[in-house]
Amino acid sequence: GDPVLEVRDLVKHFPVTQGALVRRQVGAIRAVDGVSFDLRRGETLGIVGESGCGKSTLARLLMALERPTSGSVRVGGREITRAKGAELKQVRRNIQMVMQDPYTSLNPRMTVGDIVGEPYEIHQDVLPRGRRRRRVQELLEIVGLDPDHADRYPHQFSGGQRQRIGIARGLALRPEIMVCDEPVSALDVSIQAQVVNLLGRLQREFGLSYIFIAHDLSVVRHISDRVGVMYLGKMVELGRDADIYSRPEHPYTRALLSAVPVPDPDGRERRERIILQGDPPSPADPPSGCRFRTRCWKARDVCAQQEPPLQVRPGASHESACHFPELYPVPRPY
Ligand code: SF4
Ligand code: MG
Repeated sequence: GDPVLEVRDLVKHFPVTQGALVRRQVGAIRAVDGVSFDLRRGETLGIVGESGCGKSTLARLLMALERPTSGSVRVGGREITRAKGAELKQVRRNIQMVMQDPYTSLNPRMTVGDIVGEPYEIHQDVLPRGRRRRRVQELLEIVGLDPDHADRYPHQFSGGQRQRIGIARGLALRPEIMVCDEPVSALDVSIQAQVVNLLGRLQREFGLSYIFIAHDLSVVRHISDRVGVMYLGKMVELGRDADIYSRPEHPYTRALLSAVPVPDPDGRERRERIILQGDPPSPADPPSGCRFRTRCWKARDVCAQQEPPLQVRPGASHESACHFPELYPVPRPY
C-alpha cells in the first residue's frame, strides 16, 4: 500500500550541559541518529530494541510531541516536524498513542467516560457535545467493555480493561496511525494475547496502521508485517517479519532472536543462545564506526573506522547495516 508515514534521516540530539552559573553545552545524547522508514496503510511495523536504543524518543517524534534536531516526518504527504497551531492539532488527531502502562496513564480522578471522551473536549469541532456520550459508549463497546460502565473510575478495572480504555480513547478521533509503545509489557502474560488480538481486530476494522514498539522480538512476532531493529539510535535491520525471523543478518538481531525460544519440529530449541557481553554504550558517547562493535563477536578493524550503511545486499531479502552480515542461500525459484 501507499505510505501513511514517511520518516527520513530523523535525528534527535538532546544537549548535555555543564556549569552552575553559565551553562554550556558539553555534548549531546544522540537518542535518534539518522532513522528512515515508511509505514504503509494498514500495516504493522514492529520496532524493537533494548531500553535506551531511542525507540521511545522516536515515538515522541512521530507524535510531534518532540521536535527533531533534523530530518523529516511526513504524514499523508504533509511535513509535521515544523507544524504549529491548528496544523499541529490536526496532525495529533491523526496519530494517536497507546501507552505502555495502563496503571499510571489514566487519570484516577476522571470517570472512564470522561477519559475516553476527553479528545472531543480538546478537539471540539469533531463531535457536537450532545452526541459525545453515545459515541463514548460505542467506543467502549468496540473495545469489548460494558458501555454502562462509563461512570466508573479506572481503579474499578483490571489492567487489561484499563488498556482497553486507553485504546478506546486513542480511537475516539478516528486516527489513521496508532503508535503503540510496549502496550502489553505491563500486563499479565494471560492478558497480553487478548489485547494483541483486540489491536489486530481494530486494525482490520478501521484500516489502522500501527507502529508497535517492544523490547524483544517475541512480542512483535505475530503482529508485525515488518520489523525494524534499533541499536543506540540507529536502525540496524529492517525487513518483512518472516525474513527478519528466518534470515537475520545483523549480529545484534541474531542475538535478540537467540533469546526467543523457537521449537523445531522435534520440540527442541533450534537456535544457539547468544549472550551479549556488557551493556550498550552511552548514547552520549557512541563508538566510532559501527555502534555495535563493542559487543560484537564478529568485529574487525573496518568496523571501528567505517559506519555500515543500512542497505539491501545483492541477493538479500531486506536491509541491514553490517560490514559482515550473515549470508543465506538465495531461495531457488520453482
Ligand atoms: Fe559487528 Fe562489524 Fe557488523 Fe558492526 S559492522 S555488527 S561490528 S561485524
Ligand atoms: Mg521505552
